[in-house]
Amino acid sequence: MKLIFLGAPGAGKGTQAARISAALGIPAISTGDIIREAIKTGSPLGQQFKSYTDAGKLVPDELVVALLQDRLEKPDCQKGFILDGFPRTIEQAKFLDNTDLVIDRVIDIEVADEKIVKRMGGRRFCPQCQKTYHVEYSKPKKEGICDTCNIPLSIREDDKPETVLNRLEVYHRQTEPLVEYYKDKLAVVDGTRTPDEITDLILEVLKA
Ligand code: AMP
Repeated sequence: MKLIFLGAPGAGKGTQAARISAALGIPAISTGDIIREAIKTGSPLGQQFKSYTDAGKLVPDELVVALLQDRLEKPDCQKGFILDGFPRTIEQAKFLDNTDLVIDRVIDIEVADEKIVKRMGGRRFCPQCQKTYHVEYSKPKKEGICDTCNIPLSIREDDKPETVLNRLEVYHRQTEPLVEYYKDKLAVVDGTRTPDEITDLILEVLKA
């Protein structure tokens, strides 16, 4: 099963990708996570990535495609995968078209912009294990502390309010055209339901 999860930043793609990954036994691949890992190393390439992510802009297609290509060659992708945050441009979608990978379904998790802004303001993450939390919807057991690593949670630079508005603008302009591009494989899921309901909706779609 080869899946793409589409949706605005903060729509819940990462949360659902992790759940569906566990349910189906296929890896969830987040280009955002791969990029954040590269930034953490402090390498020149990582520093280049940081200038884009901090501004809420997309990393250039050729760089992201190279990262993804590398990841897709790992043996765990043989049975299938979930792409979370890729493709984000028509150019990136064309890269996939030019491989021998056949995407089975594209799941679009829809949430209105106003809700996204509210959600992202409360988003937190663990700088060590990268697990994400939310001050209202997905609280850690101890306020502000990662359940697994027991260290203080952080706010992603690109979850800060001014960057969020930028990211939404970029999403509408560069990524939303993919909804039309993938219309034959598309299933739209209401991202305002509870996380459990959304997981069930996606699993229903995949069974059909
Ligand atoms: P995410 O965690 O998916 O929201 O990604 C965080 C940031 O990484 C984005 O705002 C972009 O700057 C960058 N990024 C992640 N995936 C891509 C992609 N497929 N193409 C370009 N930039 C990306």
